Amino acid sequence: MKEINCQHCLLPIQDREDLVVSFSLLSLRPYHSSCYSQVLKGFGNLITNNQPVNGPYSAFVIGFSVIFAIILAVIQPGLILLSLLLIAYTFGPRLLSYYRYEQHLPK
Ligand SMILES: [Zn+2]
Repeated sequence: MKEINCQHCLLPIQDREDLVVSFSLLSLRPYHSSCYSQVLKGFGNLITNNQPVNGPYSAFVIGFSVIFAIILAVIQPGLILLSLLLIAYTFGPRLLSYYRYEQHLPK
């Protein structure tokens, strides 16, 4: 089993419940949920939209973007590439988060 270390305190993350993956500046960063709340108070979050990738907000955004992309592709078939890019931009980090971090941690 691969060890996942928190980017803030550098200690290993024990389970998926304690894992928060943030997507900022086009990179994924794993944190403990307690460390993430400390990082959120940092200055960088005023500039970047630092929402957790594996949280309920992310699931809502992915669901909304998939529905929006399907509607867009049906109404304007010429914009299907834009629809696919929208899905890739919202669902890609979530998929990468699962592949790189979540699958290695017990539930
Ligand atoms: Zn930590």
